[in-house]
Amino acid sequence: MKKLIILGAGTAGTIMLNKLQNTLDLNEWQITIVDMFETHYYQPGFLFIPFGVYAKKDVIKPKRDFLPPGSNVVMCEVERIEPENNRLVLKNNAILNYDILIIATGAKIKPQETEGMKDKLWHKSIFDFYTIEGSCALANFFKHWKGGNLVINITEMPIKCPVAPLEFAFLADWFFTEKGIRDKVNIHFVTPLPGAFTKPRASGILGDFLSKKNINLTTEFSVGRVEHEPQKIVSWDEREIPFDVLVTIPTNMGDDVIARSGMGDELNFVPTHKETLQSIEHQNIFVIGDATNLPSSKAGSVAHFQADILTENLTSFIEGREMIAKFDGHANCFIESGFGKGILIDFNYDTEPLPGKFPLPGIGPFSLLEETKMNHYGKLMFRWTYWNFLLKGLELPIESNMSMAGKRL
Ligand SMILES: Cc1cc2nc3c(=O)[nH]c(=O)nc-3n(C[C@H](O)[C@H](O)[C@H](O)COP(=O)(O)OP(=O)(O)OC[C@H]3O[C@@H](n4cnc5c(N)ncnc54)[C@H](O)[C@@H]3O)c2cc1C
Repeated sequence: MKKLIILGAGTAGTIMLNKLQNTLDLNEWQITIVDMFETHYYQPGFLFIPFGVYAKKDVIKPKRDFLPPGSNVVMCEVERIEPENNRLVLKNNAILNYDILIIATGAKIKPQETEGMKDKLWHKSIFDFYTIEGSCALANFFKHWKGGNLVINITEMPIKCPVAPLEFAFLADWFFTEKGIRDKVNIHFVTPLPGAFTKPRASGILGDFLSKKNINLTTEFSVGRVEHEPQKIVSWDEREIPFDVLVTIPTNMGDDVIARSGMGDELNFVPTHKETLQSIEHQNIFVIGDATNLPSSKAGSVAHFQADILTENLTSFIEGREMIAKFDGHANCFIESGFGKGILIDFNYDTEPLPGKFPLPGIGPFSLLEETKMNHYGKLMFRWTYWNFLLKGLELPIESNMSMAGKRL
């Protein structure tokens, strides 16, 4: 039998396994999925944990619950990919050969990339909310915090879910207002970008939200180091911002296995064809989700759209046909804006977020680039959709390629 391996059973790998199980001829193809951890984390839920909206139990489930019964599952860290030998070398020295490999190893934070970040203040007055440990530690800290300078800082782009830091700032405004200490908390959003977000039109609108909510914004700040006494972040051009609590979004990088295999760029992301999702270097390797070096957002919704394209292209590749399905960079993100409201953005490589209605033109029920209660419900519903539809690779009422229907230019 021919062998297809999916490396990574996170969002993208799990969706791909579910799709391929129903697409490939299983008399001809043996599909194996490899991961090093048994637990699946609903990462979008990490945002809500510091504010007591979700607890740890709300964001974790066993990975195997989402893998089709009877799948070949290998639970072990992959030490190395050897593309020239078409094989994986596992940490326990076992070898897995493949005819086709799908890399879905995701991205993770590397606070140690910034001097002074992962030091004695880590999870004491410097926190992340991109890991379960970080978001739970911050939840405990916020329970007793009496106020001061809260600095939210993006170290560098790209990061997973680029709107999550803004959502954190909006939720912090809501949370401390509800606690009755908003006047004692100075919220400061510090970003290396020239505005609040990566895309100019949305950036203007989201920047206005920050100022309406009395959140300070500092742009073009590239953090070079963290100093502890007194506590401050210092940029490469020696600007200083003091903090009592630093919520950092550290450098995001691809998994170390990519570096160990000599397959990544300087951030360990795998060079990938932006439309077909084939690896640039190796024809029988495909890449999906956060592991790619693509200029699309690193988001679960993106992995879901990519999975449709990749399934089609893999079928063509196996049958020796031209790969004609094209990923257009489609991303769709609900932005929680606090006080029971949210904003929705829908965009791709070429079209920036535009106002309008989504998914039904003129009807919605969701509104693009506008703050509504319905968008907030959409964000909360995303968790249910994620566990019940998205991971299982089931169809959602959203096209994989972005549609202009309902958008206003
Ligand atoms: C705070 C936060 C908020 C977010 N909010 C949203 C949101 O609102 N909407 C949205 O769509 N997305 C959101 N995301 C992003 C979303 O969670 C990710 O983009 C998505 O999970 C990426 O899927 P992936 O499969 O590429 O990576 P992952 O789901 O991270 O999976 C990678 C898998 O590979 C495995 N792996 C890696 N290396 C190895 C190895 N060497 N050996 C074996 N296994 C390995 C890992 O164990 C892991 O299971 C958010 C993320 C965060 C952190």
